[in-house]
Amino acid sequence: MLTSKETTYPWEKLPPKEDCCVDKKLIISVRNLTVQYDKKVALDGINLDINQGCITALVGPSGCGKSTLLLTLNRLVEEIPSATMQGDIQFDGKSVLSPSTNIRSLRSDIGLIFQKPNPFPFSIKKNLTLTLSEHGVKDRAEQDIIVEQSLRSVGLWDEVKDRLESSALKLSGGQQQRLCIARAIILKPKILLMDEPCSALDPVSSGIVEDLVSNMRGQYTIIIITHNLAQARRISDDMGVFWVKNDRGVLIEKGSTQDIFNNPKSEITKAYIGGIRG
Ligand code: ADP
Repeated sequence: MLTSKETTYPWEKLPPKEDCCVDKKLIISVRNLTVQYDKKVALDGINLDINQGCITALVGPSGCGKSTLLLTLNRLVEEIPSATMQGDIQFDGKSVLSPSTNIRSLRSDIGLIFQKPNPFPFSIKKNLTLTLSEHGVKDRAEQDIIVEQSLRSVGLWDEVKDRLESSALKLSGGQQQRLCIARAIILKPKILLMDEPCSALDPVSSGIVEDLVSNMRGQYTIIIITHNLAQARRISDDMGVFWVKNDRGVLIEKGSTQDIFNNPKSEITKAYIGGIRG
């Protein structure tokens, strides 16, 4: 069970960007992962390591399996009846794809933020307290503390503190997305998966959400899909470049963002980041 005492969001104490991922420690390792929807091979033999506390950007044109990878990491892909998976994913030393994995606990550990903000059609406060209640925090006073902390942590508290009971759907798109991030981090996940979290937002809101994601570095391990290569370059430590080959989604290059931009190994990556392909 969560308690407010466990819920600290010490953004101010974040080490500077350069210090975060010095001792790269593996938190997720994906091995020979193939995911199909019926006969359609969305991901073909993917091998990828994710470093703890770092931001990993997944880039590549539409249809190369990036969203499928995110959905597989917290096993939401199983909700699609035609989906089948082969291979192995280790998270914190445990198998994600094992039939004995506790899916509820996996999804608390690995939160997902979608492209389009998806607040519940309730009040701002209830968006957060509902999640808390479902996970055992039912004491009102304790909920109030955690709600304030989590809204502060996404920079939303001052904007909404006087209208916590009004509908979340009345917030701007950027505010809704920050509320969804607050809702995801209220469970203190270890990993945050983000599927183009800025792409449905206006430029100002997009910048605010991007700064928020960037500031979460070190506190969370973040895997973010983005079509914005400049954004990937600004915020990520590591990158995976996906492509479609023979109608299958494949990972053509992975490594540190700096290396991939400065010294891409694959000709396709070179053309993609140079804006020639993709
Ligand atoms: P990306 O995120 O890179 O755009 P996706 O993971 O969404 O790629 O899709 C990979 C491939 O799988 C695409 O060809 C897409 O059409 C297909 N696909 C995605 N979801 C489904 C589904 N529910 N049923 C069948 N095919 C799907």
